[in-house]
Amino acid sequence: MALEERQDMERRQDMEFFSRHLLEWYHEQKRDLPWRRSRDPYHIWVSEIMLQQTRVDTVIPYFNRFIGRFPTIESLAEASEEEVLKCWEGLGYYSRARNLQHAARQVKETYGGKVPDDRDAVFGLKGVGPYTAGAILSIAFNRPEPAVDGNVMRVLSRFFLLEDDIAKAKTRVKMEGLAQALIPSGEASHFNQALMEHGALVCTPKSPRCLVCPVMERCAGRLAGRETELPVKTKAKPPRPETRLAALVEGRGERAGRVLVRQRPSSGLLARMWELPHWPAPEAPGAGAARPGDAAAMDRLRRSLGEAGISARPEEHFMAAEHTFSHIHWTLQVYRCREETLPLPVAAEARGPYAAQRTAEGATALSPGASVEEPELFADEAGHDGERAEMRWIGREDMAKYAFPNVFLKLLNAYFDQRDGADSAE
Ligand code: SF4
Repeated sequence: MALEERQDMERRQDMEFFSRHLLEWYHEQKRDLPWRRSRDPYHIWVSEIMLQQTRVDTVIPYFNRFIGRFPTIESLAEASEEEVLKCWEGLGYYSRARNLQHAARQVKETYGGKVPDDRDAVFGLKGVGPYTAGAILSIAFNRPEPAVDGNVMRVLSRFFLLEDDIAKAKTRVKMEGLAQALIPSGEASHFNQALMEHGALVCTPKSPRCLVCPVMERCAGRLAGRETELPVKTKAKPPRPETRLAALVEGRGERAGRVLVRQRPSSGLLARMWELPHWPAPEAPGAGAARPGDAAAMDRLRRSLGEAGISARPEEHFMAAEHTFSHIHWTLQVYRCREETLPLPVAAEARGPYAAQRTAEGATALSPGASVEEPELFADEAGHDGERAEMRWIGREDMAKYAFPNVFLKLLNAYFDQRDGADSAE
């Protein structure tokens, strides 16, 4: 037999071995996850969107709450965006929630509320990329479609000793071809889940558990002693650091006990989420600005507040907080501020300059298979495009009404805890 033929045959044997053993292992070892209890494509879709860049343990309570609150596609389509974001609060990458609701409306209007089982139709749903489409079609409809994300590429790179850079689009295409060829006839649903499960439980990123791996016997990466070197992946650009000054404006008079929050613009980073007002620190991070109590920082914050129509004086540093996006890393220096005049009625809408400006800088640094989230930077201090900020005075009891990104949720809870603790100690 010619060398080429022999290599071909061995490869086919490796593929058959891999698929068979992985499936057997999955049937014995699979975790009991809420979205595995049904074949409902809506449940599978929601779970796959939530699982993007998020751990299973984190997703489970969110999934249960979300499905409890929006049990059908119609209920999700008909909900207000505020409700959907509130249900997603803390899970991050909020454009996932907005896209999911948008797509639910597409399904309701175009497909009578039933998730389509047609490849082009599924691809046409907002927020559904190749991975999610493959997952829905294979898991829910048992279609032999590949569902290739970073986990799957890691497993395939190791088992087949592939040295292609998984950060490249053409590698993903190649992996999709391989993953599709590996699907045993009639077993797309179980096989794709087996592949994902194996990547999550056994062939893990840093310490693959080769000794308990169902396919170790023929794993080329392990046999070459290279399992921890694979997959090859060029490093993503680290998030750009940015220091920002945030204002915790405490109300006076009839607003005593409340703090001022504003809503972000309708597009860009964290669109329509609520937050404490914040602006960039006066100097580049690391240049000594915006340290707790820094006079220049407090002065700048006061001016920024004034420009936004908020008459308040920064009084003391409250705390620092960090928040990382795919492309940017915020260090928030938060100052307690005292309201000076009474410009805004309680719970009334306030208007202040808060313009959104998109920049050309896009989000990168996402692992292959992850959807691109929050791609635009938001520069609230540069340029005005007519969009003005909604503002509200809120107390702790109002927190349930507004959706906050995690960092502001923590800051506000820390503030209310500290204040209520001080009150009860008095
Ligand atoms: S033997 Fe090790 S490297 Fe190979 S697939 Fe199994 S866990 Fe991954």
